[in-house]
Amino acid sequence: MVDEVIGKECCGCKMCGDLCPTDAIQFVTDQEGFWYPQVDSEKCVKCGLCVKKCPVLNETVNPNAFMPDVYCAWILDEEIRMKSTSGGAYSALALRMLDDGGYIAGCVFSDDWKSAKHVIGNTRADLDKIFRTKYFQSDTAGIYRSVRELLDQGERVLFCGCPCQNAALREYLGKEYENLVQCDFICRGINSPAAHRANVRELEKRYGSEVSFFNFKNKSAGWTRLGLLVKFKNGQQDFTDRDTSAWTKGYINYNLFMRPSCERCHFKRLPRVSDLSIGDFWGLESSPENMKKGMSVVMVNTEKGRRYYERTLPYIHSEPQDFQTALNGNGAIRICPKYYPRKRGEFFRCIDTEDFSKLVTRLNRDQALKQSVHRLLSRGKHAVKKILHMQKG
Ligand SMILES: Cc1cc2nc3c(=O)[nH]c(=O)nc-3n(C[C@H](O)[C@H](O)[C@H](O)COP(=O)(O)OP(=O)(O)OC[C@H]3O[C@@H](n4cnc5c(N)ncnc54)[C@H](O)[C@@H]3O)c2cc1C
Repeated sequence: MVDEVIGKECCGCKMCGDLCPTDAIQFVTDQEGFWYPQVDSEKCVKCGLCVKKCPVLNETVNPNAFMPDVYCAWILDEEIRMKSTSGGAYSALALRMLDDGGYIAGCVFSDDWKSAKHVIGNTRADLDKIFRTKYFQSDTAGIYRSVRELLDQGERVLFCGCPCQNAALREYLGKEYENLVQCDFICRGINSPAAHRANVRELEKRYGSEVSFFNFKNKSAGWTRLGLLVKFKNGQQDFTDRDTSAWTKGYINYNLFMRPSCERCHFKRLPRVSDLSIGDFWGLESSPENMKKGMSVVMVNTEKGRRYYERTLPYIHSEPQDFQTALNGNGAIRICPKYYPRKRGEFFRCIDTEDFSKLVTRLNRDQALKQSVHRLLSRGKHAVKKILHMQKG
């Protein structure tokens, strides 16, 4: 059964759990904080569905998808744009669905901000919880069943999740639904919920209070700063950015706490698996205002996605761009993260005994040195250029 053949290739989509006709599949969380299927041999009737439908084992493709048409976009509602992770393209797509009377399925934080799961809603209040990106793995148990129930009742649904979760939904449904729109995002790789918990644990200890709000990629210092804002129940707050945030450094410099399967992601291929793909439009020269507020890349991958995106235009500023520009700024569209097994292993060995930030800083020491040397060299280069320029003048 699936637990015997998949091992660490498992992407943790949990679809096999929804699929199993005898509920024989449970999920066990390993020491790194990632869950894997475990089949109860007493309940299992050996139908083989879990293996036949697994998106990783099947390398799921979408036969309706073509090479994407690419747009640079941002939501017109300024407040939502500032609160969104990129340009707020997701919220524009979601508002279209809500205004059509449909449902949105996406990821929310738990009440204590320590974990995340997928839910379905059909109100603006639901959108307030679903929007904004949580950079660690969302628990999707039960979501595939719930989406199918709504689709079979004739309801419209917008599903948003990682490419692997979208591939899982395709496999689970096994047929095209005109009333479903699937949206994935450019995914660098998904992080361990245990790493997020370790970060929260340290912050709560440092501030002597529980978290009351957690915002990855807060834009108060600008979109490109990759701000991380955490508020506490005692009124204090913690703000770090790409140069000071332990989370961001651990994630971006060495992929320290990413799921093993992301190193060989099956869904970074083109054409994509979903109707629409969204992400940050890195690498596009634009006004200081746009660099502060954020811009989305929208990839239209299917005819259904195109029709839906066209109907989203009243909520959004959208301009066509060429695919190469998007690709140049965003390697994560195609490239899988590289792992540093020694550092990654050390991270997970010490996650319960060392403070999160100290651990990440220790494992990043050589990177910090490299960055200082790089900074010194580019300052030196700049100074030499200035002197040569003055001499010429
Ligand atoms: C782990 C991860 C890695 C990413 N890597 C890149 C990258 O390398 N390059 C890039 O351009 N973009 C990346 N993105 C996508 C980007 O960060 C934004 O999510 C995307 O651009 C949408 O932004 P937005 O402003 O339109 O919407 P937002 O308001 O941010 O909406 C986010 C949507 O994603 C869903 N979502 C949020 N967190 C999760 C989660 N943990 N699992 C599944 N679904 C979730 C929400 O339900 C919502 O539908 C990544 C996202 C994640 C979760």
